[in-house]
Amino acid sequence: MEVALDQPVLVLNRLWQAVNVIGARRAFGLLARGHAQVVHHHDDDFRTFSMLDWIDFSASNPPVDHLETVHTPSRTIRLPRVILLAFFDRLPCKELKLTRNNVFERDKSTCQYCARVLPREQLNLDHVIPRHYGGKTTWENIVCSCIPCNTRKANRTPFEAGLRLVRKPKRPKWRPFVQVTFGAPMHDIWRHFLDIAYWNVELGEEVG
Ligand SMILES: [Zn+2]
Repeated sequence: MEVALDQPVLVLNRLWQAVNVIGARRAFGLLARGHAQVVHHHDDDFRTFSMLDWIDFSASNPPVDHLETVHTPSRTIRLPRVILLAFFDRLPCKELKLTRNNVFERDKSTCQYCARVLPREQLNLDHVIPRHYGGKTTWENIVCSCIPCNTRKANRTPFEAGLRLVRKPKRPKWRPFVQVTFGAPMHDIWRHFLDIAYWNVELGEEVG
């Protein structure tokens, strides 16, 4: 039981975005208080369960592996793998991070040189002042750029390349979605909610 209650549970916010990983003990606490629901993958769909519904579901659908359950004196409950928060205000607040995703969000997937809106796969991040001129990886110096503009600009300033920024890059005011910590072991069902992980990794100096 102790080990089971330490199992990691992925937490989604009300937009079904992964925001955290917590232990099963804490997840049960949130479920019991009605602050969250269990998300379960069922018939190619995701169903949500209140704590009571989940107890009923556990009784009628016992898991194959007994490690997937917790036992109370009177019943066996399946361990949730993913829970969905009921309230926005339960989200932990974290500092705004400079991530690929947050830059694309700030710039609305718009090339900041030619103003074209493109799919993310066709956009790069660009250092406005190139790094070899001392340009830093900061909110004020990183913009979203299409590949042609990026190629044309090469390792030059916008002025040198005959390009103009659509607007001056700034640190956005909104709070981003909290990043998930990836240290914990991952369950299959998590993949559905973590495919955006790439976009949420904090940027380091390796970004071109
Ligand atoms: Zn462009």
